Amino acid sequence: MTEDLNAFEGRIAIIGSGIAGLVTALALAPEPVVLLTKYALGGTSSSAWAQGGIAASLGADDSAGLHLADTMAASDGLCDERAAAAIIREAPAAIAALEHWGVAFDRHADGSISMGLEAAHSRRRIVHAAGDGTGGAIVSALARAVAAIPSITVLEGAEVRRLLTSGGRVAGLLGVRNGQAFSLRTTRVVLATGGIGGLYDATTNPPENFGQGIALAARAGAVLADMEFVQFHPTALAVAKRPLPLISEAVRGEGALLVNERGERFMADIPLQELAPRDVVARAIEAQIARGGRVFLDARNSGAAFHPRFPAISRICRDSGIDPATELIPVCPAAHYHMGGVATDQNGRSSVTGLWAVGEVACTGLHGANRLASNSLLEATVMGLRAARDLGSTDIHSSRPVLAGNMPPAPESRKVHRVVSKNLGIVRERLGIEEAIVTLLPWAEGGYPVTDPAIVGLLIAVFAYLREESRGAHARSDYPNRLPAGDRTLLTLSEVLDLARSIVPQDYARSA
Ligand SMILES: Cc1cc2nc3c(=O)[nH]c(=O)nc-3n(C[C@H](O)[C@H](O)[C@H](O)COP(=O)(O)OP(=O)(O)OC[C@H]3O[C@@H](n4cnc5c(N)ncnc54)[C@H](O)[C@@H]3O)c2cc1C
Repeated sequence: MTEDLNAFEGRIAIIGSGIAGLVTALALAPEPVVLLTKYALGGTSSSAWAQGGIAASLGADDSAGLHLADTMAASDGLCDERAAAAIIREAPAAIAALEHWGVAFDRHADGSISMGLEAAHSRRRIVHAAGDGTGGAIVSALARAVAAIPSITVLEGAEVRRLLTSGGRVAGLLGVRNGQAFSLRTTRVVLATGGIGGLYDATTNPPENFGQGIALAARAGAVLADMEFVQFHPTALAVAKRPLPLISEAVRGEGALLVNERGERFMADIPLQELAPRDVVARAIEAQIARGGRVFLDARNSGAAFHPRFPAISRICRDSGIDPATELIPVCPAAHYHMGGVATDQNGRSSVTGLWAVGEVACTGLHGANRLASNSLLEATVMGLRAARDLGSTDIHSSRPVLAGNMPPAPESRKVHRVVSKNLGIVRERLGIEEAIVTLLPWAEGGYPVTDPAIVGLLIAVFAYLREESRGAHARSDYPNRLPAGDRTLLTLSEVLDLARSIVPQDYARSA
């Protein structure tokens, strides 16, 4: 029995209730929209877990030009300068919009906004709320604002499992809500489904964030971009948990040092030291761990001031029996952010008519090969605002009736974690990438619970195979150098499947 949600036919459907989905819904009001989200409004999402804050060049010593220069340096030559400049320019408007919807950013006693420093930023420009509880503060304020707007219908517990298309354009959705199948006919869908960290064993993301939105868009024929670029956060708390709690970069921004088990400060001779770009710090930590060492953050210089400045991190550490004011914090890298995703234009439009993508699921070109810390909440907010403006200008195209296929099975990503973590981690090489492609291809071509996660893993693997250089977050031990000129890679799923079939050595293919 399929629940018919066609009472909402013609409405814009927004999938996901992290910052990107919430901002899009709010900015579209009073246009009627349906917001579908896997969990409760304000519940699990990367947005709710964000600690550091939002990058915005609001300081007297700062400018959009300096912020752009830092973003481009982090992107290692692959940032789309035009797209990045436009997003960064809109940072003050994004902060103002969030405040308008009730977000209370931290301020000094004189009323000026308080700004933190993070790795690879040349100025203090990280706007935060509730200390290091920025994401939680933003999501609860936005969720309250959404709940108060009658034109936004929120469908909680709704997992979208397929986008339906007709004549190459979006025609509807299929999913499961509280255990019951549903279908919704709509010609305008906004994907705001978040990242892919949940594909890896060691991750800071909600484990369910395995890139389901990318699989939805890929199956609908959308062009994907820069899929090989996965950012590993250098300092997750090294404890036996999944996901791993994050120790924000802001802790290093406030002077914490990285040391190994011998007490050596192994970042001392590396440019920018502890505040070097994330990929550089992650690889340096990985090298210590690979030789059998251990790595710690030493924040003892903050003393008792640590607790009020970083209340959430302080709680996380204490839950694991560590007092950061007096003890070293054990850390390790973990999959954290995906620079790649559904290729979009500057209004969040994908290559499929009727499909927009905003937030981490999208690839606007802002981050290139590596994201500058705290640029993602900024991008999600700006692109949510832009997509809403763009959607507001589109017609309701009447959809033809769509024959719904069988409901796809609930996705199960565990088998994929092993393959992706082993072969598509911080440092990659051809044989490992081929092993990933050989294993993932038959899963991706099937119709199994593992198929959608395998599609996302396969996309990362084939894009990684094609990039025969080391750039930004993509490091290959067999191609350690950066090519003089770098291009972004843009491909559809069917192109990736063809490439994968040609990459899989014939004897593997025969035995599969
Ligand atoms: C621990 C942590 C700390 C971070 N700190 C910062 C920071 O300080 N600054 C910064 O800029 N960035 C930070 N980031 C990154 C940033 O939080 C994310 O990039 C951003 O929040 C992504 O927002 P989003 O709305 O795109 O996705 P998310 O916030 O992940 O939301 C995705 C939503 O989509 C829903 N969903 C997914 N698939 C489906 C489906 N099939 N059907 C229905 N619903 C679905 C999910 O349930 C969720 O509601 C951090 C990330 C983590 C994990």
